[in-house]
Amino acid sequence: MLQNPDEMNGVRLRLKFFGVRGSIPTPVAANLGFGGNTTCLEIQSGDGGRLVIDAGSGVRGLGLERIAQGHLAVDFWLTHFHWDHIQGLPFFAPLFASGARVRFHARKPASATRQHLERQFQEPYFPGRDGISAVQEFLEIDTNTSKHGNITIHPFELNHPQGAFGFRIEAGGAVIVHASDCEHGDPRYDARLRDYAQNADVLIYDAQYTPEEYAAKAGWGHSTWLEATRAARESNAKHLILFHHDPSRADRDLEAIVESARREFSNTDAAREGWEIRL
Ligand SMILES: [Zn+2]
Ligand SMILES: [Zn+2]
Repeated sequence: MLQNPDEMNGVRLRLKFFGVRGSIPTPVAANLGFGGNTTCLEIQSGDGGRLVIDAGSGVRGLGLERIAQGHLAVDFWLTHFHWDHIQGLPFFAPLFASGARVRFHARKPASATRQHLERQFQEPYFPGRDGISAVQEFLEIDTNTSKHGNITIHPFELNHPQGAFGFRIEAGGAVIVHASDCEHGDPRYDARLRDYAQNADVLIYDAQYTPEEYAAKAGWGHSTWLEATRAARESNAKHLILFHHDPSRADRDLEAIVESARREFSNTDAAREGWEIRL
């Protein structure tokens, strides 16, 4: 909780994970160490600028935190529209709070983004949109650089079915790179990713599969922990965070994967719900 701006003294970027799982929420006892919610994370800069990447089921927790803080201006930067990245929105409390303002930045024309997101609130999937009080805005982004307060955002294309954006996020010289969902193996995309991840303080990378599993999952749009370590090394990243954990992965499996990955790239961790990193 960062209600007091002094808590950010000297912090250039703060990252907090609210959802780290890929594909589908998996709230089962064996997963609760790392967490079962699908992807959502928040990045805040020292000047108070905040942005949220994706709105998987983890966004419910973020919404409750924002309500408690009374911080109801929310800027989403969506990687893409696969359901695990937007499915939490019907349970995102700020949408139903008066005085809230929620912006969605995404890689489609504004009208398409609005339609894709609102479909989740339509019958017969949801009781309806009647309770929505927030002022909503829908904004198309491309690979041009954007500014959000003193945060600079460089979107870039990832290799993923129907496309997805990665984001290089910078403030005060600190760099966080979000690269999920993405598949390795296409030289153009691999080179671009390394280019955008160059010298990152934190590289968050799609490590859904083990190398053994990947053999049967080529073309599904995801990568492996081993490729994650290669991307981190080849881009000279300082800290690698494995992300978009497979629904089948129990805590003990993830611990074993981190151990293997550290033999390839020592400063590796697996993303965990509730974890905060300060740069
Ligand atoms: Zn996904
Ligand atoms: Zn996807």
